[in-house]
Amino acid sequence: MTDNPVDGVAVVDLLVIGGGPAGHSAAGAYRKAGGHGRVLIISADDTQPYNRPPLSKDYLRGETEADDLPLESEMFYRDNNIELVLRDSVGHLSLGSATVRTSSGRTIGYRRCVLATGCNPAVLPVPGAEHPNVLRLRSLTDGRALRKAAAGVTAAVVIGSGFIGCEAAVSLSKRGLDVTMLSTEELPQRDRLGQAAAERIAGWLVDAGVKLREGVTVQGIEDGRIVRADDGEIQADLILSAAGVTANSAVAEAAGLELSDGRILVDERMATATPGVYAAGDVVLAHNAAAGRRLKVEHWGEALRMGEIAGTNAAGGDDSWTDVPGFWSGIGDRTLKYTAWGDGFDHDELIDHPGGGFTVWYSQAGRTVGVLTHRADDDYERGAELIADGGPPPV
Ligand SMILES: Cc1cc2nc3c(=O)[nH]c(=O)nc-3n(C[C@H](O)[C@H](O)[C@H](O)COP(=O)(O)OP(=O)(O)OC[C@H]3O[C@@H](n4cnc5c(N)ncnc54)[C@H](O)[C@@H]3O)c2cc1C
Repeated sequence: MTDNPVDGVAVVDLLVIGGGPAGHSAAGAYRKAGGHGRVLIISADDTQPYNRPPLSKDYLRGETEADDLPLESEMFYRDNNIELVLRDSVGHLSLGSATVRTSSGRTIGYRRCVLATGCNPAVLPVPGAEHPNVLRLRSLTDGRALRKAAAGVTAAVVIGSGFIGCEAAVSLSKRGLDVTMLSTEELPQRDRLGQAAAERIAGWLVDAGVKLREGVTVQGIEDGRIVRADDGEIQADLILSAAGVTANSAVAEAAGLELSDGRILVDERMATATPGVYAAGDVVLAHNAAAGRRLKVEHWGEALRMGEIAGTNAAGGDDSWTDVPGFWSGIGDRTLKYTAWGDGFDHDELIDHPGGGFTVWYSQAGRTVGVLTHRADDDYERGAELIADGGPPPV
């Protein structure tokens, strides 16, 4: 890093905190929008920005390797003059002096800053949950540890039936492990996607050999090997805790940025209330201009898009979040595509299609608010338009 001292501190034109998809795309979009000067990404990760979604899918099954994961080659950062500092984390942000301090002792000043610190897996609030054998999955380091733990063992317990839990359970089962899933939900994803979709997902898990113990609460974990739930004990060689995430917003909170429910509040331009300070990705609660309200999303595509918006605006451009959020999930060899405002529905209806595909339409007060498809791409595309327009579902 070349110094450009202002009051004795190195100052960069754009400082991006976090090397996930939001941070990566913020830096790239800043350059694309004509942003000049020094751009620095500081990432706590030990690897340049990479694809996380395969960690619970093909990477866990051993079908792809770490070399397949980077979002861009090293040349991208060189060509775009983006400096990337890995294995360092911002521990303190001063909005008054526009500086940060990192765990390695660097003090860096910025003219514009994007916080893109993402989330970490939540720790189950039960005794024994922090034992090193209780694995969690967010980073490539976690992914490597999970893959290593899965090699040569026979029984796994997955705690949690969200998408990461479902994907990882099927991937572990495909690796030959005897997998049991424990979840407080009566059916996987029922709270989020409704009864009909949850029944389909449960069927896929069972087809893949995953044993479901739903509607149960984990009370403790002994020696990283025995899970005690309210319906009995289960012993495993490998325990994966996939019980949701916690936003990495402590630095933002300590700096005095406004938070709600642990997320940094930003407008549709990804701007915080402090001029020049933006935030993007899973760590934010952003206003969506088309929805007319703030939406909580934890999706890969939205992290990329929000980063793009933040970077463009930091460079003096004009971009806002109007997109309908969505994600794809790979449960074994089946793909689910979901696009929705994601903050509730009062009616859901599943339509079967010839050949095993299906569509679930979600509505609220007669307006389409979401669509979930399996092998029904036309509905997926039509759904995104209906949601944006607020039209009634076609069924
Ligand atoms: C296993 C897995 C599978 C997934 N599959 C899908 C999928 O199929 N589809 C989908 O839409 N979404 C999926 N997701 C979710 C998706 O990966 C996230 O929504 C996305 O990564 C969020 O991006 P982000 O940049 O906001 O945060 P993150 O990806 O969490 O990146 C945050 C970055 O900030 C760094 N950081 C944190 N604190 C600091 C600090 N203080 N200083 C410096 N750096 C810091 C971290 O090291 C990291 O580099 C999956 C997630 C996981 C874990």
